[in-house]
Amino acid sequence: MTNLSDYQQVLTPNYGLPPTIIVKGQGCELFGQTGERYLDLAGGIAVSALGHCHPDVIEALTQQANKVWHLSNVLANEPAIELAKALVACTFADRVFFCNSGAEANEAAIKAARKTAFDLHGPEKHEIIAFNDAFHGRTIGTITAGGQPKYRVGFGPMPAGFTHLPFNDCNALNTQISEKTCAVMVEPIQGEGGVRPICPTFFEKIRTACDRVGAALIVDEVQTGMGRTGELFAYQHSDITPDILTSAKSLGCGFPIGAMLCQEWISEHLIAGTHGSTYGGNPLGTAIAARALEIINTPELLSNVVARGQQLIQGLNQLNEKYGLFKTIRGKGLLIGAVLKDEYDGRAGELSALTMQEGLMTLVAGPRVHRFAPPLIISKVEIDEALDRLDRAYAQFNKQA
Ligand SMILES: *Cc1c(COP(=O)(O)O)cnc(C)c1O
Repeated sequence: MTNLSDYQQVLTPNYGLPPTIIVKGQGCELFGQTGERYLDLAGGIAVSALGHCHPDVIEALTQQANKVWHLSNVLANEPAIELAKALVACTFADRVFFCNSGAEANEAAIKAARKTAFDLHGPEKHEIIAFNDAFHGRTIGTITAGGQPKYRVGFGPMPAGFTHLPFNDCNALNTQISEKTCAVMVEPIQGEGGVRPICPTFFEKIRTACDRVGAALIVDEVQTGMGRTGELFAYQHSDITPDILTSAKSLGCGFPIGAMLCQEWISEHLIAGTHGSTYGGNPLGTAIAARALEIINTPELLSNVVARGQQLIQGLNQLNEKYGLFKTIRGKGLLIGAVLKDEYDGRAGELSALTMQEGLMTLVAGPRVHRFAPPLIISKVEIDEALDRLDRAYAQFNKQA
């Protein structure tokens, strides 16, 4: 039987050793090699929005698999056009660029903003403002944009022209932003950075400041998008209109696809030859994402996200009354973080390991946040079961503490 010591032999060691091997998923359940069952509150890190092996998604995949998988961007295909039309119809965007991951979507966003500023104002206007603790991906460009210096160590030199500011700090933003700024890049909820929501007034300040200096507002919705927070995209909780938005993760519900959505004043600078991707917009990925979008962007699904999110937060608060582990429980919809008290700082990983022992997959977001990002189709009964398992895991943690 394929085992984890084979994993250690043949895969690069950049992920550390996973706790188990999974062979099957169904709905919100995962099954290991010996049939052991896990309830999935991790969702493949906010990816498996429709759970595992959703019949409609399988149907979209197999139907398209029997037609054509790949064409390159020399040729057009129907699913890509249909998905772009659907995304344009339900967002601020005028146009869509397809790629294969979140990092690639952010690379496209950075390049689009730079090119727009270059064409309109010249090479001086190239500064990208991003925020401390932000996460935008693992390419050289996106670790530079990201606000976690540890991801940059050993990979220098980094590209120039990126500035990092404290998140949710209006004064720092107003002091730094200038005519040289070509874009401000921000997550509506910092996902990897600890499930930290943007303050609504800060979000508005960014929009106003961008307008003042002619910079593009890039909203990274790779984690918060596709229904995760109870709206199709998290910016839709506000009155703010992005210039550029990036999506991936739940966009393909497990099939690798990313997208950069933007307004016409940006896209008109991405003239033929300026950017590209061999696989981007391939018919297989776009057919799957188009079907997923149809299912996710419905009142039934989105109201389930809100209701299940409230149920989970309420349950976590009750568990916290019992065990007193957390100083705050935050997030929106089904992206939730429970922030450990200072005395438990650094021990979030122990919590997720303990839930696994109770048959429950959970995530961390840094060393002090226990994170939950379940499939958006999760049921009331499944959340109740998850809370029972969390109860046992937290009790165990308390014993060890
Ligand atoms: C996961 C994530 C990314 C990177 O996506 P990949 O598909 O891993 O490249 C970028 N931004 C945010 C906010 C993310 O959560």
